[in-house]
Amino acid sequence: MALIVQKYGGTSVGTVDRIKNVAERVIAARARGDQLVIVVSAMSGETNRLLGLAKSITDSPTPRELDVIASTGEQVTIGLLAIALEARGCPARSYTGTQVKILTDSAFTKARIVNIDDQNMRRDLDEGKVIIVAGFQGADEQGNITTLGRGGSDTTAVALAVALKADECQIYTDVDGVYTTDPRIVPKARRLPKISFEEMLEMASLGSKVMQIRSVEFASKYNMPIRVLSSFESECEGTLICPEDETMEQVLISGIAFNKDEAKITIMGVPDRPGIAYHILGKVAESNIEVDMIVQNMSDDGKHTDFTFTVHRNDFKKASEIVNQVATELGARGVTGDDKIVKISLVGVGMRSHAGIASKMFKALADEGINIQMISTSEIKISVVVDEKYLELGVRVLHDAFKLEEAAPTA
Ligand code: ADP
Ligand code: ASP
Ligand code: MG
Repeated sequence: MALIVQKYGGTSVGTVDRIKNVAERVIAARARGDQLVIVVSAMSGETNRLLGLAKSITDSPTPRELDVIASTGEQVTIGLLAIALEARGCPARSYTGTQVKILTDSAFTKARIVNIDDQNMRRDLDEGKVIIVAGFQGADEQGNITTLGRGGSDTTAVALAVALKADECQIYTDVDGVYTTDPRIVPKARRLPKISFEEMLEMASLGSKVMQIRSVEFASKYNMPIRVLSSFESECEGTLICPEDETMEQVLISGIAFNKDEAKITIMGVPDRPGIAYHILGKVAESNIEVDMIVQNMSDDGKHTDFTFTVHRNDFKKASEIVNQVATELGARGVTGDDKIVKISLVGVGMRSHAGIASKMFKALADEGINIQMISTSEIKISVVVDEKYLELGVRVLHDAFKLEEAAPTA
């Protein structure tokens, strides 16, 4: 008898009918003789609605109270799924994060899981019940409700699979696997049968929201393979996210990720001397604003330089205010900002051993008249910042240029 953790995302539980459909799937899986732990998200749109209510009162709601509110979305879904199962004669029991005892730190709205107590779940599993756990939530040492960051139900599922030493962790969503890029942007994107933890981590951190980044970190750390599957199709193979192995496709580029949440700020004509980067970014970091890409230009006159960096669009206003203040202190020439930019990234472990990928990428974009505003690279990715109006075109031409719709041979 296998122990399987299944997670159903927001769209998959978006209506009562869809919850009934999930109940049918769970019953079919149970009929195969497996023990099941089911993690569910809030019904689609619900978390946004709940956070919107809080933000309609104030621009900066207390994070602890935001978590009290946001966590209720999942609580509704676990109850509905348990009722749907019981109505079909399947013994089930719902659990909030607190009831499981998913212990987290106290970083409200982005808490990390510290420990999971499996005792209560084991007892119910041994009694033949299906366990239904609210994703995205836990509680800290003081019993405060916490949430794990947007998309955090993926992390709940992987963490439960690790804690219970599950045989499989299945993530059911509204696409039938991980694709070479978001199939909503490039309809001819291709499903990847397998992708390594490392590449999935890079894709997730560069904006592919199909898996929450922390869930992939967790899976990689504890070596827990994940299978991404469609909750709307019956027979699908999905995508296996697992350690890199020799049966993986021998491709240079496995996918294209993009991030629409970026904004850039440039501080012009700052003195070119030691400590300037620290002076600017230190102030930004003190306000808990994460900086992504950073470019410092060569100095023309040996005395002054321009300094550009990107932040999340939500932080654009605050970061601009800070930088304007720093600019005055430093006697800089001025500050400009642009929150109509996007980041497009090519990801692939094959880049480690191949030259010429960057130039091919830049040519493909240039041929379409797409201007590159910033570039950053790592061993297995190349990212460019472009005007947001070029997002779809940029992703599509790169998908074509690197022939990602064609399957590569396996070793
Ligand atoms: P869930 O609510 O099930 O957690 P998400 O909306 O978080 O679902 O993630 C699934 C979505 O991720 C898909 O609908 C798709 O638009 C998007 N997506 C982005 N990049 C990719 C990719 N490379 N492969 C598959 N889906 C992707
Ligand atoms: N409901 C949460 C969100 O919308 C968590 C999740 O769906 O994974 O971010
Ligand atoms: Mg998700």
